[in-house]
Amino acid sequence: MFLKNKNLNKSLKTKIIFRIVVLLVILFVTIDLIFAFSFRQESISEAKIRSKTIAKVVRDGLTSLMVMGVIQDRKIFISRLKKASKQVDIQNISIIRGNPVDKQFGPGFKSEKPVTAEEKYVLASGIKIEKLDETLNSVRYHVIIPYKATSNGVVNCLMCHKVKSGTVLGAISLTMNLSSVRAATFKTIVQTSLIFLAFLIILVLVLFRFFSPYITLFQKIEHGMENLKEGEMDGVLIDEKGLPDDEAGNVAKTLNETSKSLKEILSDINFKVSSLIGYTVLKTDNYLKDTVKIINELVRIYNFKRVIEKDRTKNDIINRIESIIRDYMCFENYAIYEVADNNKMSLLAVGSKINLGKDDMWCDRSSLEDADSCRAKRTGGDVDSFNFPCICQNFKFNSSEEDEAGSAGSGSGKTCNEKYNYYCIPIYIGGKVGMVLQLIFDNDVADFVHWMIPYIKSYLAEASPVIESRKLMELLKEQSIVDQLTGMYNRRYLDDTSQNIIAGIKRRGTNLGVLMLDVDHFKEVNDKYGHDNGDVVLKNVSKQIKKSIRTSDIAVRFGGEEFLALLIDIRQGEALEIAEKIRKAVESSRLEITGGIVLKKTISIGVCEYPADTEKFWQAIKYADVALYEAKENGRNKVVRFTKDMWKEEEY
Ligand code: GH3
Ligand code: MG
Ligand code: MG
Repeated sequence: MFLKNKNLNKSLKTKIIFRIVVLLVILFVTIDLIFAFSFRQESISEAKIRSKTIAKVVRDGLTSLMVMGVIQDRKIFISRLKKASKQVDIQNISIIRGNPVDKQFGPGFKSEKPVTAEEKYVLASGIKIEKLDETLNSVRYHVIIPYKATSNGVVNCLMCHKVKSGTVLGAISLTMNLSSVRAATFKTIVQTSLIFLAFLIILVLVLFRFFSPYITLFQKIEHGMENLKEGEMDGVLIDEKGLPDDEAGNVAKTLNETSKSLKEILSDINFKVSSLIGYTVLKTDNYLKDTVKIINELVRIYNFKRVIEKDRTKNDIINRIESIIRDYMCFENYAIYEVADNNKMSLLAVGSKINLGKDDMWCDRSSLEDADSCRAKRTGGDVDSFNFPCICQNFKFNSSEEDEAGSAGSGSGKTCNEKYNYYCIPIYIGGKVGMVLQLIFDNDVADFVHWMIPYIKSYLAEASPVIESRKLMELLKEQSIVDQLTGMYNRRYLDDTSQNIIAGIKRRGTNLGVLMLDVDHFKEVNDKYGHDNGDVVLKNVSKQIKKSIRTSDIAVRFGGEEFLALLIDIRQGEALEIAEKIRKAVESSRLEITGGIVLKKTISIGVCEYPADTEKFWQAIKYADVALYEAKENGRNKVVRFTKDMWKEEEY
């Protein structure tokens, strides 16, 4: 990754320098072209001026020879001219005689005859011709200038020449070699190019040197940003050594300070949230992801707390813990036990992917009878069979001799099972172990389970005070509706639920049996054996009543030694049978009280059926009471069914 970026940044440096070099080369070439072009133009115009001057000099020379009458000796002049011309880059010079001159003075020298078509054309037309022959190596300027007869000059041509003014008398043909100018131009270009190249090399070196620290900084920043993206805060820091001491260096320093404080903030968040939720999430090098993870945990636990705080009953909360253990943490095998005040345990929830048998428990059922046989309850600490095999004797599969998988010796005479590990966590409620969470797991997930334990505990820690408050609420409620002596419901409960009971009976179209029960001559017990023994009798009667009715029926302590039994969903006429069953149960029960005295008590029962006898619930109770009165009247230890004739009053 870093290498790739380095290459990218390298190309960035090359790109910048390449662009600068290209621009400079273009600038240089343009300047050289302009220079070469203007050099050429200058040399051509200079050649034109020179040719004009030479033409004039030649014309004046020839005219002088004519005036002096020595024109026949012009060859000397011409040969001198040619010689001198060579020194000023004139390659060829020739003087051509026109026809009018030949006609008047006879033919001239052979060399004065027009040769080329251009020369002939100039003699015929009097129009100047100029031509530029350019090849790569050479430049030649060729010009043919006509001499015309004129009477306006210092010397009047027409004095000697018998021609009209303007007649072409001859011409001068000149070829100038301008190649030396071109060579000089090339030489200059080559020289400047070499200087430019040297300058360019120095410039590139300077630029490379100048850009290097910035490019390195870019690389470092980019590398740091990559690390920041990955949450590796340590890798974000930029090495400040060799950084340019300017704005770019300041950027790096600011970036370092920012990432340091960001790292501190993230560590602080992690630390504070960890202390808040009571454990640390599995840390990686990625600070950002770790922070997100730990915040998510906090939110999840906070949400869990908010949800359970709104749950109405202890069971709702247990269900929620169960769902987190099973659905969210994916434990298939687990159990939740509750410790009662009488030091007995009950199974609140169980999960199992194997058949646990009729007990449907991971522990021996007998252990429920004595909560202290549960090691987690007794010690108040975690019980971990993975680290301490066979640590708890209550685990059902410890002693499974048929299980071939279990072979590790425990040293206690029992066979340890290696197939299932258990981890039991005591849950403190109200300062003592009120529940135990048991997790069962295979060896291959042991590490994961151990990592999860603090996590699970934080959920339990949130749940524990809420469970405590729900338990207290339930206890308070129970105390307000349950009679403490007999454990039966009291009249308040009846007041609260009578409407629901009747609504259910009506909805199902069934019958409700209403039994009013009263202990016969109970006062005697109190008087003879004391109030405490009276209480024992009341407890026994209530026990016999509860034993004789269904659990779905409702038994109420209606008054002192008066009870009400509501028989739900009975057949018509069945109430009498059940009343008789209760009466017999009380009659046949023998109760030993203080001093080894055996008491035998009887009860009288009044029976009424709803809605057969009345469609008013409280009237049915009254009718049962009336029937009870009849039973008492008719000798006690009797069951009497209410009949209309027993009701003397007009209306209830
Ligand atoms: P009967 O056969 O006519 O019903 O006679 P009885 O003696 O059972 O009836 P009575 O109404 O005369 O006496 C009821 C007694 O029950 C009076 C009261 O002191 C006693 N009692 C009421 N509540 C309690 C209680 O909670 N414990 C005890 N030990 N006695 C109670
Ligand atoms: Mg009584
Ligand atoms: Mg009574």
